[in-house]
Amino acid sequence: MVKTAQQTLAGWGNYPRVACEVARPETTKDLHALLTAQPDGGLLARGLGRSYGDPAVSDTGVVVDCTRLDCYRDFDPDTGLLTCEAGVSLEMILRDFAPRGFMPMITPGTKFVTVGGCIANDIHGKAHHVDGCFSQCTESFKILLADGRHLTASPTENADLYWANFGGMGLLGIITEATIRLRPIDTTFFRQRGITVPNLDALFDALDEYHHMPYSVAWIDSMATGADMGRGVLTVGDHATIRDLGHKQQRNPLAVSPPSPLVLPFEMPSGALNTTTIRLLNVVLEQVQKRASPISHYEGFFYPLDFIDKWNRGYGARGFCQYQFVVPMENGRQNVRELLEMVSTSGQAPFLNVFKKFGAERPETMLSFPFEGYTFAIDFPVRDGLQDLLRRMDQRVVQMGGRVYLGKDAFLERDLFEQMYPRLDQWRAIKAKYDPHNRFTSNLGRRLGLCD
Ligand SMILES: Cc1cc2nc3c(=O)[nH]c(=O)nc-3n(C[C@H](O)[C@H](O)[C@H](O)COP(=O)(O)OP(=O)(O)OC[C@H]3O[C@@H](n4cnc5c(N)ncnc54)[C@H](O)[C@@H]3O)c2cc1C
Repeated sequence: MVKTAQQTLAGWGNYPRVACEVARPETTKDLHALLTAQPDGGLLARGLGRSYGDPAVSDTGVVVDCTRLDCYRDFDPDTGLLTCEAGVSLEMILRDFAPRGFMPMITPGTKFVTVGGCIANDIHGKAHHVDGCFSQCTESFKILLADGRHLTASPTENADLYWANFGGMGLLGIITEATIRLRPIDTTFFRQRGITVPNLDALFDALDEYHHMPYSVAWIDSMATGADMGRGVLTVGDHATIRDLGHKQQRNPLAVSPPSPLVLPFEMPSGALNTTTIRLLNVVLEQVQKRASPISHYEGFFYPLDFIDKWNRGYGARGFCQYQFVVPMENGRQNVRELLEMVSTSGQAPFLNVFKKFGAERPETMLSFPFEGYTFAIDFPVRDGLQDLLRRMDQRVVQMGGRVYLGKDAFLERDLFEQMYPRLDQWRAIKAKYDPHNRFTSNLGRRLGLCD
């Protein structure tokens, strides 16, 4: 019998906070036991809770913390194929496989995510235009279904179930293990370059000019408005070879780093992030980006935010939300400008703005977020009026032919969501086939009509 306990859970944004019944199974056998012990109750898998809003919380049924399902099953160094349990994190994979010359093929901006969470959100990284999403490196996975079956899903076996899980938000079953392709590497370092841009037009031009670079992401000063709007630094990069490294780095080209010793020990008062502190922090960020060294370890290149553990506490008790949208290339420049102007005239105080250009979408997926276009992620402290601003932005994003990333969402409403994802009906049919009684359910799922 797997025990459950009451716990208040939230996503990374600490908004909303939800009282949940939580279980922490150790094995797949425990998962089966949980499923049988809850013949009518809901279940929801949870990884490391790095999605921002309410995808990994549920105030009904049991939230199944999968982080103890963290065993490796098999690794083939000739192909780079790793089979592991779904609770294995990218941080573990880096720690254990980078010294052997491999790293995750696709990674988000934090390494503290599980393989199960990466599949459920079909996460993307800085190289989406070259490498695509996590679906691109996932050969197959095993999933425990509502009726107790434990199926393998791949592009050739239960293909509907396979594709529906990328962006499926954990609502089709519990992924227990996966086979993913790792990237062979010569070093754990990256060559990088920061290009300072004075405004939005220059940023778009720079993105076009450096489109051939595999990794690219721009940080934008969220407080720059008017003619300066879009001011920031575009960072582009590629994997470094041993010859690119300095003497000291060459002695340990596959170096991994220990966990960060820095932790934000408590929640900051909600007022700590005001326009003055945000302006100051943006100045610091700008200097850090501009002066980035030409060779960077993966920690600084992919995961600068992981440097301070629990940095999300900096937003205070009310929490924050990250709003990420993508709009098509066509009219992209003017549409992004309009959306940023909505933010700058709203009176809300965005903190971190990150900008990228996505490559083509994977047409077999149904709820995967990226498609070819411009994507912006904006952190907002939760304040009065934020929901209203985001609703207005959602409406414009829909009219522009865009969509919002569910992995970071806390506010989107069902009517607008239904207009954003054109293959939603196909996904709902697969949900009805594999989970007809809606056993897998979450707060996000109920809010958006993905489950009852
Ligand atoms: C600092 C930071 C930077 C980020 N950068 C990016 C980025 O660049 N690109 C990007 O795409 N995302 C990014 N994210 C979001 C993050 O990558 C995703 O939300 C990811 O899915 C979180 O993984 P997790 O293990 O924490 O999953 P959780 O947040 O715990 O869960 C996320 C979803 O996965 C489901 N799930 C988890 N485990 C399983 C399982 N075993 N079986 C079935 N479903 C499961 C849950 O039900 C939930 O719906 C970032 C987040 C942070 C905090």
